[in-house]
Amino acid sequence: HLSDRLKKVASYVPLNSRMADIGSDHAYLPVYLAKNNKISFAVAGEVAKGPLENAEHEINLEKFDDIILPRLADGLDAIKLSDNIDCITIAGMGGTLIRDILKRGQNKLSGKEKLVLQPNVGEFILRLWLMNNEYKITNEDIIREDGHTYEIIVAEKVNETIHYSDDELQFGPFLIKEQSQVFIDKWCNEKIRMREVINQMNQAKKHRPIDRINAIEDKISKIDEVLNK
Ligand code: SAM
Repeated sequence: HLSDRLKKVASYVPLNSRMADIGSDHAYLPVYLAKNNKISFAVAGEVAKGPLENAEHEINLEKFDDIILPRLADGLDAIKLSDNIDCITIAGMGGTLIRDILKRGQNKLSGKEKLVLQPNVGEFILRLWLMNNEYKITNEDIIREDGHTYEIIVAEKVNETIHYSDDELQFGPFLIKEQSQVFIDKWCNEKIRMREVINQMNQAKKHRPIDRINAIEDKISKIDEVLNK
């Protein structure tokens, strides 16, 4: 019963990885990967007790307690250098939280880990952090499921700064090139939402917030420009 979203995330985890799934909740992702013989070891990290119990339950139920270790910890504190983790997945949370987890956990990163990140929102902030910390975005994906659009960002440390333009940081360097239907729909919906905000602002009785309206108009123009490339 794995969601299409997590299946997509799983597809970017390299074969025979030693992975850490941070914010694992039910540990569905590592359990699915273990069932399919894709991983040799996993840490299922959770900061909250309830979700950690969910993970423990699922891991025991599926009999993977020999290779999937649930650990109660904040972010990358769940991993030890001796775990030799070579892939970290962080899915289903905001991009700002994912960035904070990476930022606070830098002492736990060897630089050899592939990062497979699935922010629900806040993709710009996350890509900006990756760029500023010498990561290269090596793949991206976008999927739609149950009325939500999800982006997946895969990154690797390269020890040099790969420069991304503001458009690439906002829309995704791979996604902007691919222009998939899901991508186009996401940004068309975003435009509709922005127009609604402008309409609301225009109805303000006294002070129409001209500057804010103009700023949103600029964003809409930017989306048009990107979609017509
Ligand atoms: N990764 C799963 C997925 O994509 O379906 C679960 C996503 S769930 C919405 C987010 C989980 O992240 C929650 O279980 C929450 O407890 C956990 N979480 C939030 N902040 C965390 C942190 N700093 N360290 C570890 N886990 C965290």
